[in-house]
Amino acid sequence: MPPNVTEANGVLFENDVQTPDMGLEVAPVQKADERKIQLVWRNIIAFACLHLAAVYGAYLFFTSAIWQTDIFAYILYVMSGLGITAGAHRLWAHKSYKAKWPLRLILVAFNTLAFQDSAIDWARDHRMHHKYSETDADPHNATRGFFFSHIGWLLCRKHPELKRKGQGLDLSDLYADPIIRFQKKYYLLLMPLACFVLPTIIPVYLWGESWKNAFFVAAMFRYTFILNVTWLVNSAAHKWGGKPYDKNIQPAQNISVAIFALGEGFHNYHHTFPWDYKTAELGNNRLNFTTSFINFFASFGWAYDLKTVSDEIIQQRVKRTGDGSHHLRGWGDQDIPAEEAQAALRINRKDD
Ligand SMILES: [Zn+2]
Ligand SMILES: [Zn+2]
Repeated sequence: MPPNVTEANGVLFENDVQTPDMGLEVAPVQKADERKIQLVWRNIIAFACLHLAAVYGAYLFFTSAIWQTDIFAYILYVMSGLGITAGAHRLWAHKSYKAKWPLRLILVAFNTLAFQDSAIDWARDHRMHHKYSETDADPHNATRGFFFSHIGWLLCRKHPELKRKGQGLDLSDLYADPIIRFQKKYYLLLMPLACFVLPTIIPVYLWGESWKNAFFVAAMFRYTFILNVTWLVNSAAHKWGGKPYDKNIQPAQNISVAIFALGEGFHNYHHTFPWDYKTAELGNNRLNFTTSFINFFASFGWAYDLKTVSDEIIQQRVKRTGDGSHHLRGWGDQDIPAEEAQAALRINRKDD
């Protein structure tokens, strides 16, 4: 077996699975070595300035921006969020569905607006995060603490394990897509235009906003806000919440994160079955806007080949590795024995 498979600490694609309920044969570990972190001061200063500008932008959002600018910033937040969740994450990193080129074009535009590195680089880091989850080859190894997994990982040099194991990662599918290849090639031109220049110019010319409000609200505040929301998936959703699917890993079901991250907070499910395009086991998508977005495009064929996981596999897995917080049974389930259904106390009974 090649080394990148034997050392894996989590499943990434369906062909990584080793058990009938789609897990690994060995229990995952959480570890981080004692290596001293080497700070990158250029990044520390840049992120500090960005956050100061964002706080000022938040103040202007509530006190002096024209209402159209606030709505515009909100729309950009949703668009850039989808560029990460439906684009870099579910489509490119996980291949959990396929998309025709017009949808890929929309997603790459949204993704460039989000400025979290090119989709190819984002997907590479994210595949490492799943495959080597919570080890030194995970870019934002959550066992190093909340701050490290949130923003700290961007303020210091990468761990050498990331580079070493990263060489065994297959990215050929990403480089085969000309749309994201184009984005990576011209990223330093496209990104500033999409993330900062256009969001500043549009409010000024279309509804007479001041340059100051446009820049600090629609560019700096909106960008920093969605950045922190994305980071919360790596920090908060790797720390707080139930583990109904696999209690041996840190990722947890965090509804608060799911609301802000357009449905990406059901993280215990997502690390257990990463190829499910819903990133959750849900009856409805009220808290999963990204799934509704993909379903909308699937309704006329721009999104297709949507992958999910059967109830049977989920139940098997819940029984074997869950923490007991999953509601295995609901009223009306086929496998409830007749005598159990008879014995249930029913108030205000009307049906049957
Ligand atoms: Zn994660
Ligand atoms: Zn993922």
